[in-house]
Amino acid sequence: MNAPNQSGWKPTMHEGANEALDSHRTVTGNRALMLEERLIFEIGSHETTGVDLPEPQTGAANRLGGLARSEPIGLPGLSEPEAVRHYTRLSRQNYAIDLGLFPLGSCTMKHNPRLNEKVARMPGFADVHPLQPVDTVRGALEVIDELADWLLKLTGMHSVAMTPKAGAHGELCGILCIRAALEARGDPREVILVPESAHGTNPATAAFAGYRVENIPATPEGRVDLEALKARLGPDVAGVMITNPNTCGLFERQMKAISDAVHAAGGLVYCDGANFNAIVGRVRPGDLGVDAMHINLHKTFSTPHGGGGPGSGPVVLSEALAPFAPLPFVTRRADGTLDLIEEENAGEHHPRTFGRMTAFHGQMGMFTRALAYILSHGADGLRQASGDAVLNANYILRSLDDVLDAPFGDSGPCMHEALFSDKGFAEGLTTLDLAKGMIDEGFHPMTMYFPLVVHGAMLVEPTETESKAGLDQLVLALRSLAQRARDGDETLKTAPHFAPRRRLDETLAARKPVLAWSGLPAPGGVPTLSEQGGS
Ligand SMILES: *Cc1c(COP(=O)(O)O)cnc(C)c1O
Repeated sequence: MNAPNQSGWKPTMHEGANEALDSHRTVTGNRALMLEERLIFEIGSHETTGVDLPEPQTGAANRLGGLARSEPIGLPGLSEPEAVRHYTRLSRQNYAIDLGLFPLGSCTMKHNPRLNEKVARMPGFADVHPLQPVDTVRGALEVIDELADWLLKLTGMHSVAMTPKAGAHGELCGILCIRAALEARGDPREVILVPESAHGTNPATAAFAGYRVENIPATPEGRVDLEALKARLGPDVAGVMITNPNTCGLFERQMKAISDAVHAAGGLVYCDGANFNAIVGRVRPGDLGVDAMHINLHKTFSTPHGGGGPGSGPVVLSEALAPFAPLPFVTRRADGTLDLIEEENAGEHHPRTFGRMTAFHGQMGMFTRALAYILSHGADGLRQASGDAVLNANYILRSLDDVLDAPFGDSGPCMHEALFSDKGFAEGLTTLDLAKGMIDEGFHPMTMYFPLVVHGAMLVEPTETESKAGLDQLVLALRSLAQRARDGDETLKTAPHFAPRRRLDETLAARKPVLAWSGLPAPGGVPTLSEQGGS
């Protein structure tokens, strides 16, 4: 425990976790050039400031009347160099796609080309304001329209709602379109069917939109059980949400049969398109009977994921759902110019819209980046990217399947991600231990414990942007860690040993999160952030 003591700072070390390392403790807590850093509240002082403001003119404060602050503001102050070092030190404890391979399955963490960044920063795109008169933003509208056109060509769909701001937001948009279409038909239904391997956002979206969620089982080879699905279809089923390629890393070969069965029963088909990176330029979801699918621009089309945002999740729609798409959107007039459909003119042009998902047109910065990515690759380049992504994932699958159990290794080649389980690990060693070991080897862990249908799941997605040399490094590390897990190497249980923080108490952090600085701890009181190891 590292409660601030009289001398100020004590580095976070788990007692006895690694004798050899502990005997090499430094007095500062720093390890070579990995510098310890305390919370800004612990290093700042109320008296210090990085700026030198003139005294307020007499009389000015009086204008605040009773709102004038009567006590010091209490914020930690730092000089400019102290502030710069604080954030730089923190940023060095981050892992990033610009630093190394990021094998998070289902996330498609690929390189963000610098050309995209250059284009997004062009003043004509970066500095437009959403309330500017339409005539002054024709270029921006052209970008939205051209990107929309590419997304329609790549998916073979009828129209696209560009405004949703993430995959999950797109799911909600698609399900609200489905609900609006069914209600317009006078046939509101109650149930959405979701495979048991689905991403958590799928059932969450359906429930949020007011549906009851029921699971569809998978076959032993990891795909949707078509017969079980058909048996459940009926007049109460509004639709299905199917991820294709699915979260077991497999293509749903019976997708067209699934869509046909759902349509025959009067339902609609939502496809979770988060894994589109595996099939761009090869499969058009529109040909498989899909009615709505979101595309994560921050996955497939290389725009940054950011620290939880901004993402962008345009939703492509079938002809059946297009009339219900949300406002606003860009449309091309007969004379070739672009126009906006908003509430004012929707009555005339788009009367059945379900409403609005966002204040304005969506994530403009992501649109410019995604279009730059698409245009710089061209149709042939996009097709090659999906092929390389699948090739890289199969290289990982076959380089490891003798030391890590691949539960669907016999179901044919995987798509753009490889799935492993903890079968064969020695008693007491888990997927979490292997993942923590990866941190010591300099890799961000893969996606763990997802999909839920596989025990101790490890989902590895290398993406097409990794070279063979980079993949070989990952394989080297994973083969060694897998062997240690099989051999029962107890030191894995306390990994990571070399990271700025050792194994954190994740249960305590989740159950008793301390999200605000509350000063030094009262004796026996709630621990402060730093007492928990500053996670
Ligand atoms: C990432 C992902 C989502 C959600 O997308 P966000 O942009 O994170 O909201 C949904 N389904 C699957 C399969 C995903 O991988």
